[in-house]
Amino acid sequence: MSRFLNPRYEKLTPYTPGEQPQDRRYIKLNTNESPYPPSEGVLAELNRQSGEELRLYSDPQAARLKKKLADFYQVEDENIFVSNGSDEALNFAFMAFASESVAFADITYGFYRVFAQLHGLQAQIIPLREDFSLAVEDYENTEGPCVIANPNAPTGLLLPLTEIEKLLQSDPQRLVILDEAYIDFGGDTAVFLTKHYDNLLVIQTYSKSRSLAGARLGYAVGCKALIRDLELLRFATNPYNVNRLTLKMGYRALEDQAYYRENCRRIMETREYTKKELETLGFHCLDSKTNFLFAEHSAISGGPLYERLKERGILVRYFDSPRIRSFVRITIGSREEMEAFLQAAAEILADI
Ligand SMILES: *Cc1c(COP(=O)(O)O)cnc(C)c1O
Repeated sequence: MSRFLNPRYEKLTPYTPGEQPQDRRYIKLNTNESPYPPSEGVLAELNRQSGEELRLYSDPQAARLKKKLADFYQVEDENIFVSNGSDEALNFAFMAFASESVAFADITYGFYRVFAQLHGLQAQIIPLREDFSLAVEDYENTEGPCVIANPNAPTGLLLPLTEIEKLLQSDPQRLVILDEAYIDFGGDTAVFLTKHYDNLLVIQTYSKSRSLAGARLGYAVGCKALIRDLELLRFATNPYNVNRLTLKMGYRALEDQAYYRENCRRIMETREYTKKELETLGFHCLDSKTNFLFAEHSAISGGPLYERLKERGILVRYFDSPRIRSFVRITIGSREEMEAFLQAAAEILADI
């Protein structure tokens, strides 16, 4: 670090993204991207762009996309915030709504810890229960907003909407930030609850179920006052946060819902197939409602399994942290990719 760095950031530990290797081709089951391409409509939209318009800034209001999302969710345009990936919406939400502390689970999306540190907040870490389930009662006496990924990552477990609603009702003064990055793989969105609860902000992304991780697009839905606060910070940071091409692709993707729904159905089907096969190999998998499986085997822990799969050209993710060292997180790829993964896992187990 240079001698010029603001001392406030000296101890900042940044987020560690999953590998995006450029050296060789891997079967990439490590960052929860979709194995399927964006819809034909989205690709056609992209190809229609000459690039000439790139000399112009994007619409700082993102009005066309907001209206489309508002129609999709049956809310008003003023209930929608759009962002450069949902990580950016999360960052603005931490910045806007947490002043001293913020509560989240011990095992959840790694970025929450980073944002808490970045904004000088005290993180109240609420341990998941023994079986990795989240009990909303555990959040009832926390200070400041709470952030919950639902379904959670990397566990894959889904909290029912009735539990979310219980949490919202338990203290109307506490904001609940609900990160629904994986909601399309077996859960029901809480977006409609934002009409009844002004202490709920729901955040979603185009990166997982809509095959646009590389385009960077996310959004938040909440009451108008919450959205105005987010807009205040966006206009104080980067009013052109979403580029022109991405705005157009995001709009078009909403017209191709049938395609994306079918992709999610296939991914869920492949997930259940993979889970069954892993169990046959002696793995224990948590009940995933996402596009990944969180699996452990008594014969090999997460780190060594990750290494051996990588030698065989397959990337998964493991987390070097106390409660989950025995696990690996496996993104659900295509059926063929999962067959290759299962074959490799079987060989590794046979070797030990
Ligand atoms: C992938 C992911 C995100 C963010 O993705 P973006 O690409 O920034 O939209 C947010 N939350 C969770 C839990 C995720 O897994």
